[in-house]
Amino acid sequence: MAKDKKERKEKKEVLKPRFHVHVDIQCGVCRSLIHHPEGEEFPKFCWSCGATLIRFCLKCRKTVSMFFEEWWSSENDCHRTYGPVRRCPWCRSFLSEDSIEENWEE
Ligand SMILES: [Zn+2]
Ligand SMILES: [Zn+2]
Repeated sequence: MAKDKKERKEKKEVLKPRFHVHVDIQCGVCRSLIHHPEGEEFPKFCWSCGATLIRFCLKCRKTVSMFFEEWWSSENDCHRTYGPVRRCPWCRSFLSEDSIEENWEE
């Protein structure tokens, strides 16, 4: 019984996922795509055209961070493409490029 438990634990460790996540960010305005280093903070503005990547919902008074879509090129490689959200996840109102406050809080 005790041996059985140990074997199961070892098997679980072998099956631990060891995949690599590739992160890209796509601007909602100019559609520029840039590779984003893993673990680094996301930029707030597009490096190319200066458009905001994070939206602010004027109705909910909340900032809406980027969403991502992901696909797997192989079972060990996950590709995530982040982009600005078009609709507020809380109230579903449409968030345009300029729906951002001048002095919005973090
Ligand atoms: Zn841009
Ligand atoms: Zn909202």
